[in-house]
Amino acid sequence: MTSPDASPDIPPESMTPPASSSDPRDVDLSGIRGYLFDLDGVLTPTAVVHMHAWSRLFTPYLEEHGAAPYTDADYFAHIDGKPRYDGVRSLLASRGIVVPEGEVTDAPSADTVHGLGNRKNDAFNATLAEEGVEAYPASVAFLDAVQASGCHVAVVSSSKNAPAVLEAAGLADRFEVVVDGAVAAREGLPGKPQPDTFERAAELLGLPTTVCAVVEDAESGVKAGAAGEFGIVIGVDRGVGRHTLAELGADVIVDELDELIPAVERAAATASTGSATEAAFPSTIREEPV
Ligand SMILES: [Mg+2]
Repeated sequence: MTSPDASPDIPPESMTPPASSSDPRDVDLSGIRGYLFDLDGVLTPTAVVHMHAWSRLFTPYLEEHGAAPYTDADYFAHIDGKPRYDGVRSLLASRGIVVPEGEVTDAPSADTVHGLGNRKNDAFNATLAEEGVEAYPASVAFLDAVQASGCHVAVVSSSKNAPAVLEAAGLADRFEVVVDGAVAAREGLPGKPQPDTFERAAELLGLPTTVCAVVEDAESGVKAGAAGEFGIVIGVDRGVGRHTLAELGADVIVDELDELIPAVERAAATASTGSATEAAFPSTIREEPV
């Protein structure tokens, strides 16, 4: 006879979900009108290109300075997700190396924070040219689905190379708005983990933040999403870990974005019936003080 407590269909991990995140299959995206995508690690595996470029910069540099050797752990601890010059400052601080700030216009050969940042940029472009970059197929499938559903899309990246990366990945013509490190510098917007660059992208899409989703893989980016009034923060676990992403404020966490396609299609079907249209555009649209 069957034993009463046999329940082989219920996966054990469903017993202890993180309190603050939900199952990708159950997530409600019906109110979402825009998706604000981080680039590196969300749309493209550019982290690898960046990691190689930072290593090209700091391996010889730390050697010349007699400091502890540069490792991939340094990338995750001091650099990942931050604006470039902040990454330089953090890494140098970790080795007790002090150099002048310099100017954004410093030559890549200058031994300043800005010179080193510019040297890293040259290393990045050289690495991108040599290795190329291919978008994550599951992310492109998700992008296809959200655009087919009529949602607007933007890229929000700390990198000043976002246009070059989008071009290399064949995604340059897919995004209405790109708020990257160059835009942030020009407009004086603080980078992630502050929410300002995501808020600016929503504004440029013509949407209140409350109907926008933030899609992020880095700690600093999820923090930025959680710090704003966004509709949902989607965490993509590329190595930070589900627990950490949930703790930092991700509402739902996936390994690959195509896990959310059923939710996007369900939201589109709900919206097309018209019944949910009023609910999707509530009167809580946030008015920014002028
Ligand atoms: Mg990222």
